[in-house]
Amino acid sequence: MDSLTPLVVAGCGVFGLVIGSFLNVVIWRVPRKESIVAPGSKCPGCDTPIAPRDNVPVVSWLVLRGRCRHCGEPISPRYPLVEVATAVLFVAIGARFAGSWALPAYLVLGAALLAISVIDLEHYIIPNRIVYPVGYMLVPLFALAALLGGDWRAFTRALLAGCAAFAVLFVIHFVSPRGMGFGDVRLCFLLGLALGWLGWQYVLFGIFAGFLYGAVIGAALIGLRLRSRRQHIPFGPFLAAGTLTVLLAGTPLIHWYQQLGT
Ligand SMILES: [Zn+2]
Repeated sequence: MDSLTPLVVAGCGVFGLVIGSFLNVVIWRVPRKESIVAPGSKCPGCDTPIAPRDNVPVVSWLVLRGRCRHCGEPISPRYPLVEVATAVLFVAIGARFAGSWALPAYLVLGAALLAISVIDLEHYIIPNRIVYPVGYMLVPLFALAALLGGDWRAFTRALLAGCAAFAVLFVIHFVSPRGMGFGDVRLCFLLGLALGWLGWQYVLFGIFAGFLYGAVIGAALIGLRLRSRRQHIPFGPFLAAGTLTVLLAGTPLIHWYQQLGT
C-alpha cells in the first residue's frame, strides 16, 4: 500500500476540487431549501446558466477574474476558497488514511464537515438535509471497511461512540439549551462514529478539542468585542475542527497520554 500512497493522495486532491465545487452548490442551496440536483448552476445576477467551461473548479474563477462572463456581476471568492479548502482537506485525509479501508468514509465526513461549518457560520443552522444523508452514507461505509478489513470491533465501537457522543451532547443541550442547538447534538453522532472507529480516546479528545476551541475562540471574540455575550456564536465549526484535528493529528497526543498512565 505504501508505494500507492502518493497516488492516493494526489487522487484525493483532484477529487477534492470536484467535490468542493459540489459543496458550493450545497452551501448555497440547502439553507434556501432548494434542490441540489436540478436545475444546473446559474449566475445569481443575470440567471444565465453557467457553461461547463465556466464551471471548472478554481480555474474558471481565475480566468474570469471573479466576474460573470455575461453580466460582469462579481462572483464571491468564497467559491474558489471552498474548492481549495476541500482539496487541501482531502489531501490531508488521503495522507492520513491512505492505508485504511475507512478512507471513503473519512472523505465523506470531511466534505460534510466543511459544508456544515460554512452554513452554520452564515445561517446558524446545521441542516438535517446534510446530517441525515451523511449518517446513512457513513454507517454502511464503515460497515464495508469492517468487512474488508475484518475489524468488526472497530465498527461496533464506532456505533457505540456515535450513540455515546449524541447522548452526552443531548444532556448538555438539555441542561443549557442556549449554548448549543439540537443540530450540534445530531452532528455529534457523526463525529462520535468517525472518532470511535479509531478508539475511545479519540472520541474523548475529539469532542473535548471542539469544546476547547469553542471556549477559547468564543472568549477571544467577546474579549476583542467582535461579539457580545448575548450574540449567538455557532458551535458546529468548533466541533468539526476539534474532530478533524484529532482524526488527522491526534495520534501522537493519544500515545503520549497513554504513556502517562503506565
Ligand atoms: Zn451574470
